[in-house]
Amino acid sequence: MGLTLADRIAEVQDRIARAAARAGRSTGEISLVAVSKTVPRSVVDEAYALGLREFGENRVIDCVEKYAAPLPGDARLHLIGQLQTNKAKTAAALFDVIHSVDRPSLITALERQTAAREREIDVLLQVNVAGEEQKAGCAPDEVCALVRQLQDAPSLRLRGLMTMAPLVDDPEAARPVFRDLRLMRDQLATEVGIELPWLSMGMTNDFEVAIEEGATHVRVGRAIFEGS
Ligand SMILES: *Cc1c(COP(=O)(O)O)cnc(C)c1O
Repeated sequence: MGLTLADRIAEVQDRIARAAARAGRSTGEISLVAVSKTVPRSVVDEAYALGLREFGENRVIDCVEKYAAPLPGDARLHLIGQLQTNKAKTAAALFDVIHSVDRPSLITALERQTAAREREIDVLLQVNVAGEEQKAGCAPDEVCALVRQLQDAPSLRLRGLMTMAPLVDDPEAARPVFRDLRLMRDQLATEVGIELPWLSMGMTNDFEVAIEEGATHVRVGRAIFEGS
């Protein structure tokens, strides 16, 4: 018999707990964002019934129908994929957390649309730490200016930084990328005086390494939903 969704969730939670223990961290510091982009709404609802509360999606357009019936009030929907400025209006209505803020025009559009709905949303600045050509995210030397712009955007609560490590088989290869994001965060605290408690980093391949390096939000898709 194959593993059930409940088995896979329990396994991921166990791996999170063991990685946290190795790093001397408490499991309560780490949120599991279940990346449900490949599964239908019925499976999201099943995962909710099994206790998951944070769900990640990467395409705004796919979410309009999928979440036409909103998730229960204690669930949170995260946008983890690239956001086009012309979708800011839809995104501001649908998501509780946006991980992919990475440029001035997007901040302007999101602030306008979020304020218009009298909402507040949590945002993270996505940083292209590894400097990969085709990756989304701002360059490390743009972070300061974007942080300042976000400080003047009252509807957008800047919580932290997000990154994606290059996709390679060896999770250890991601460690320097995750470490750099954490150091960048620490530097912003000491030099700009801004506290950014959230670090969104780590996926199925490398979430344990990310936790060892300080991740507060791991974005896990395949390990939970593959086979669903
Ligand atoms: C798909 C995706 C994930 C999850 O990846 P898995 O390998 O399925 O765990 C995490 N972050 C982003 C930005 C993604 O697009």
